[in-house]
Amino acid sequence: MPAQYVVSGPAYAAGAEGDTIMGLDGRVAFVSGGGRGIGRGIVACLARDGADVAINYRRDETAARETAAAVRALGRRAEVYQADVSDWAAARAMSDAVLRDFGAVDILVNNAGIASRGLSVAYTDPAEMGRVVHTHVFAAFYLAKLFLPTMRERARGDIVMISSSATRSLAANGAPYNMAKAALEALAKTLAKEERDHGIRVNVVAPGLVETEMGRRLARAVRGVRDIHELDPVSPFGFVCQPEDIGNAVAFLCSDGGRYITNQVLYVDGGGFDTRRTRGQV
Ligand code: NDP
Repeated sequence: MPAQYVVSGPAYAAGAEGDTIMGLDGRVAFVSGGGRGIGRGIVACLARDGADVAINYRRDETAARETAAAVRALGRRAEVYQADVSDWAAARAMSDAVLRDFGAVDILVNNAGIASRGLSVAYTDPAEMGRVVHTHVFAAFYLAKLFLPTMRERARGDIVMISSSATRSLAANGAPYNMAKAALEALAKTLAKEERDHGIRVNVVAPGLVETEMGRRLARAVRGVRDIHELDPVSPFGFVCQPEDIGNAVAFLCSDGGRYITNQVLYVDGGGFDTRRTRGQV
């Protein structure tokens, strides 16, 4: 455990002096789209801090199995589950299998996502709108509905929605994605109020640009760079955000340190791009 996470004193009276605030030992996490990209970073951080992890994937079984192997190398349990989480029947069958294997889920991370095509509303295919909204919103609703009954029986539960800083700007040519992420945040804030009496914290983590397959595609399409690292010099702190930066935020929210935090949106975007830098004015 990195030394900077070690805390002591009355604020953490429930634990002995020297306890870590990130301890997730004995907790079971489910991460949708956990095989690669940001999901893999989240799985890695939760497992590092002690959680066993159920990893969902849709198509990339190889990546999911690699992620699971990395978790097992840390001495934690990991299982992989194939399902398109935007499909109710598939999500239900998968949750049955997860609950059979692990008994319960304490931490649900709704991370699976797809980008939209970058067209204005006038040119957006209704089928694309349906696909994007189903993947981000219906899937999160399905998984919350499926895991809540057992989560409510545990001492503590955590639900984290992976949204996007796109909900701050709601920029043109992103209606399906903007609408989906805004609705995902609405679901989180509704759930936070409904589930507080059951000891369940519900929060949103909203990344800016992150180096993943989706991030690389976005960087090419929106910023016109072939290599995402061309954006390092104009990025906050001199580098493009990494999946572990999102994973660390999720792990903190689910830890003892995050026990009094619910109904919040945490932007993990380094404060956003500095437009003076991107225009070469500093
Ligand atoms: P990637 O495209 O790199 O990975 C997407 C992940 O989602 C994969 O694991 C994929 O699984 C999974 N997935 C997609 N659709 C489904 C589905 N229907 N059922 C199950 N799994 C699915 O994206 P990122 O890792 O970058 O994105 C993760 C989340 O972070 C998304 O919600 C995205 O909107 C959000 N985000 C990303 C940003 C970025 O810059 N990268 C910025 C802000 C937010 P498989 O490979 O098996 O198909």
